Amino acid sequence: MPRKRAIRNKYAILLRAVVVTFIAVLSAVELPKFWTEDDGFAFYAFDVGQADAFLFHLPEGENILIDAGTRQAGPGLVSRLKRLGVNKIDIAVATHPHEDHIGGMVHVLRAFPVGKFWDSGYNHGSETQRDMLAALRDKRIPYTRPKAGFKETIGGVSIEVLAPVKQIRGSESDANNNSVVLRVAYGNVSFLMTGDMEREERRSVGKFPRANVLKLAHHGSSNGSDEKMLREVSPDVVILSYGRGNSYGHPHPEVTALIRKFGPRSYATEGGEIKITTDGRSLRVRQR
Ligand SMILES: [Zn+2]
Repeated sequence: MPRKRAIRNKYAILLRAVVVTFIAVLSAVELPKFWTEDDGFAFYAFDVGQADAFLFHLPEGENILIDAGTRQAGPGLVSRLKRLGVNKIDIAVATHPHEDHIGGMVHVLRAFPVGKFWDSGYNHGSETQRDMLAALRDKRIPYTRPKAGFKETIGGVSIEVLAPVKQIRGSESDANNNSVVLRVAYGNVSFLMTGDMEREERRSVGKFPRANVLKLAHHGSSNGSDEKMLREVSPDVVILSYGRGNSYGHPHPEVTALIRKFGPRSYATEGGEIKITTDGRSLRVRQR
């Protein structure tokens, strides 16, 4: 090899090493910072397998938990919340009484002081629901069943309940179709949380308000979303929560086709925890 080319090669290798090291250092420094810094408003979609668990951490320190995953995921969720610095939950919401949403709630209710508890009012009669209600009674946590039109402001954030509009009976899953559906707004940025709402409940809502972030209903099942809803909500980001290789075939190809058609950025918890921060104007989304 001519001497000049050998020198050039050496420089190329050296330059590549410097670039690789620089990127490695940058991600090592920047990524953990994003996950630990106190950023004001932060939303987390936890990786709890084929289940739902979400946290809104508000700028003034309040915490709103929406669902708590399965019973099996409960202890892991509690330790994750503790690592995030959560030491109390101001509002805990059980969207509906299925095990993949409230299984871990008993662990959460025992681990943290909870200011108030909201649920759908649908009586499932399962052991999981009975255990949850017993934990609420034991800890004397105020307990309400907010319906459409209910509004609350907490820590500069407004929460509006869009459903249930009325008790739905005789649908394919009444438990799903009475899910608590919430819109959480901070400044100009809003999140629509849909639980496992299906067709009947979706129709009962009528027109959906616009939201920047949409948690797609029912783990991306075909009965959880339709074109009308996607058009009305017009989300910039959609969140899907489902377990890798789940036996339900979630997300359904019709839903992935809808996402492609409307073009929001799409994140799924099967790929790890999702964190969204906002100053009330723009969104920053990361996943790990
Ligand atoms: Zn579910």
